[in-house]
Amino acid sequence: MFFAPDTEDVLDFDAAIVNTVAGATRSGDDELATRGQLAALMATFRFSGRLDGDDAELDDVRRARTRLRSLWTLERDAMVPELNALLAGLHAVPRLERHDDLGWHVHATAQDAPLADRILVEAALALVDVVRTDECGRLRACAADDCEGVLVDLSRNGSKRFCSVRCGNRMNMLAFRERRAAEA
Ligand SMILES: [Zn+2]
Ligand SMILES: [Zn+2]
Repeated sequence: MFFAPDTEDVLDFDAAIVNTVAGATRSGDDELATRGQLAALMATFRFSGRLDGDDAELDDVRRARTRLRSLWTLERDAMVPELNALLAGLHAVPRLERHDDLGWHVHATAQDAPLADRILVEAALALVDVVRTDECGRLRACAADDCEGVLVDLSRNGSKRFCSVRCGNRMNMLAFRERRAAEA
């Protein structure tokens, strides 16, 4: 374990939501384009609390996705004012909660606050951990040239470079072909 378990869960979720952009999906389509896709993502990550299921909520979450993408690859010192502004702007008040079958974890918004706000505040709290532990380098853009995906590297040796197995395989294949072409 690298960060607190709820921090790691949030970072995994944040990478997944950022990676729904067309430039990062297997389908090549934006996979956060419909209310159904949003509902499915929330269910996959067992995101609790208010879910309106309307177009306004989808638009707000899509904007939150853009904001998360821009936070992801900031340098540590540049991330700090962004996180502070986000937490203050959304009136985050951290508290411990225990619900469903989850152990004590941090919430900082009301469960009936808008979904996009809850996503952003949870992300900001997780990133506060990342800044404090000086591990911003664990948040990376995918190293595949044709991919707009991101990743969080929670591995022990910190060598993860690609957002997905698909990107890793594709880039390995390219490197293999280049080597073979160079030899020929
Ligand atoms: Zn919770
Ligand atoms: Zn990728």
